[in-house]
Amino acid sequence: MTGRQLITDAQNTWCPGCGNFSIQHTLKNVLSEMENEGKSLDDVVLVSGIGCHAKIADYLNINTFYSIHGRTIPVATGIKLGNPNLTVICCTGDGDSYAEGLDHLIFAAKRNIDITVIVHNNRVYGLTTGQYTPTSPLGFKGKSTPSGTAEYPVNPIELMLASGATYVARGYSKKMDLLKKLVMEGISHKGFSFIDVLQICATFFPAADYYNPRVYELSDHDRTNFESACSKAREWDYNSDARIALGTFFTRSLPTFDEKTGRHEERVTDKKQSLRDVFLQKT
Ligand code: SF4
Repeated sequence: MTGRQLITDAQNTWCPGCGNFSIQHTLKNVLSEMENEGKSLDDVVLVSGIGCHAKIADYLNINTFYSIHGRTIPVATGIKLGNPNLTVICCTGDGDSYAEGLDHLIFAAKRNIDITVIVHNNRVYGLTTGQYTPTSPLGFKGKSTPSGTAEYPVNPIELMLASGATYVARGYSKKMDLLKKLVMEGISHKGFSFIDVLQICATFFPAADYYNPRVYELSDHDRTNFESACSKAREWDYNSDARIALGTFFTRSLPTFDEKTGRHEERVTDKKQSLRDVFLQKT
C-alpha cells in the first residue's frame, strides 16, 4: 500500500498543546520519507503501551499493537524476533518504561535488540490526571504528592548508557526538525536505539518555559566517545537548572540480539524454504 493517509480519522482526545502531536507528526513525516525512499510501510510495526502517548496506535495508519502498561518493549521484542525483517518502533511513556517496565528497557538495551524506542517523557502520569513519575523533578506537586515529591528523578540517558544501549539520544517535542533527524537515525541504526523525548504535557506539566531557555543542540560532541557521552548525560540531571543537551549522545556498532541468537538467519532460511515450496507447487 503506498501514498496512504498516515493520520487516521480516529477522534483525537489529546489536549490542545500536547507534545504528543509533535511526536505523531514527526513520525508521520519520517514514515512518508521512508515510503518515498521505497520502503513498504507494511513492513513497519509501531507498538505503544498505556498512557496518553499510547493513543498514537489509533492515530497513525500503519500496523500498530496497543499493548499493556510497562510491557511495550517485550511486545516489540517479540515482534522483532518473530520477524526480524520488520522495522519495529516502540512508543512508550516515562511511567510506562521508567517505572513498571524499567527492567524490560534495561534488558532490551543490554541485548541490543534491533528496535527503536521513543519515550514520550512528559514527566507526569497525564492519563490518570497528574501523578509523579520517575522523571518528575524533586518537589513536583501532583495528585499523589500535594506537598511535593521527596525523590530525585532518574536520568534516563545515563541509565541507558550504563545499560549498553548502542544508540542514545534526546529530543524535545518543540524541536521537530531535530526530532525527525533523531528518529530517522534511530530507525537506521542497527541495534537498540533509545530516544528520550522531553514532551510537553500542556495540562499537568507545561514545562516549555523551563525547557526553552535551557535546551541546546550537541555540535562538537564525539558521539562515539563513551566517556564524553556520560559527561554530557550528567550535565543536566533532570532536576537542576543546567543547560539541556539535545541530539545524539552515543552510538556504536555491535551485533544485534537476533543476529547473535541466529533468529535472523533462521528467518531468511524459512523464507527461502517457503519460496522453494511455492516454486515446487507451481512446477
Ligand atoms: Fe497530553 Fe498531558 Fe493532555 Fe495527556 S494530559 S493528552 S500528555 S496534555
